Amino acid sequence: MEKGLLVVVSGPAGSGKGTVNHILLESPEYAFSVSATTRAPRPGEVDGVNYHYISVEDFQKRIDDDELLEYTCYCGNYYGTLRAQTEAALEAGKNLILEIEVEGALNVKRLCPEAVLIMLLPPSYAVQEQRLRGRATETEEVILRRLERTREEMEFLSHYDYVVYNYDGQAEACADRIRAIVQAEKSAMRRNPNAKKIFFETN
Ligand code: 5GP
Repeated sequence: MEKGLLVVVSGPAGSGKGTVNHILLESPEYAFSVSATTRAPRPGEVDGVNYHYISVEDFQKRIDDDELLEYTCYCGNYYGTLRAQTEAALEAGKNLILEIEVEGALNVKRLCPEAVLIMLLPPSYAVQEQRLRGRATETEEVILRRLERTREEMEFLSHYDYVVYNYDGQAEACADRIRAIVQAEKSAMRRNPNAKKIFFETN
């Protein structure tokens, strides 16, 4: 069985990464890494599906118990990737989507160099701002903090392997592009060092 790929998808608030990842997850080849967070659920979010919503004390305990592959503090809340589910999904041959921010992405790349880092961007900063105001799920203060954070995040862009733009109403096309990246990566020669041996020795 082909081993799954660790697919890190980062994107500033309003990039539409939730929608795009949702489309990818319709395929059984993909699984989602459900992070732990100390932030409160947004309307419509479900515990255990979007995130594991936990207290700061619980989060601290998981850090101490080495349960997190990586974690970060983003806009005042903690977010972390649970090590156990990452390993299980990859062993099961799933491409595991880690929807995490830039610092976490770089940490994952350091710990797991085989991970693919994809940055999903709105078509422009101006469009991002329109989207954030349009969805009206956050206060003005949170929106401004997230826009400010985007400027910082863009400084990490060159560390990513791919950049994909999510144009309005084009989430399907965006998901197609990510699928194409994943397929190409799996066929990369550097990921198939035993191709010759397998070719000659398989009946
Ligand atoms: P949100 O509050 O909008 O759901 O997420 C805020 C940011 O935290 C997003 O950029 C999201 O991708 C990121 N994030 C979510 N889970 C994790 C995680 O486990 N680790 C890291 N480093 N970032 C995460």
